[in-house]
Amino acid sequence: MESLICPKCGGNLEQIIYQGIEVDRCCQCAGIWFDSLEAEQLKNRKGSETIDPGYVKKNSVSESLEEPINCPRCQVRMMKMLDFDQHPIWYEICLNCQGIWFDAGEFTQFKRNFKQPGLLVQAMKVLRYPSKINHQKIAK
Ligand SMILES: [Zn+2]
Ligand SMILES: [Zn+2]
Repeated sequence: MESLICPKCGGNLEQIIYQGIEVDRCCQCAGIWFDSLEAEQLKNRKGSETIDPGYVKKNSVSESLEEPINCPRCQVRMMKMLDFDQHPIWYEICLNCQGIWFDAGEFTQFKRNFKQPGLLVQAMKVLRYPSKINHQKIAK
């Protein structure tokens, strides 16, 4: 089985299996890689946040300015997504393989944030949000 390299720190990703769903977690920075739909499946499982050690060291503003990362599976540039429901988190998604990268602690917050099913709903929400902000600024 191939072992993946962490897109953030270059550490090795180790495979973790939670209730039959396999994810890859970095031994060094504890970021977590989810293959397509794994995050979706896992967020609905009770107790699945135990795969996430749950510390967030960076604030969301500094993280939004970070360099983009490449997908550990297909090496293409990943797209930054903002999830802001309760706890603003930035995570990366690969549009090629639909994989998702969460920094340590972000999966737990992601799980709390999501009320509606489906990543697409959330993605559309994210895409709409920036124009709303600009609009408010102009109005004032
Ligand atoms: Zn790492
Ligand atoms: Zn990919």
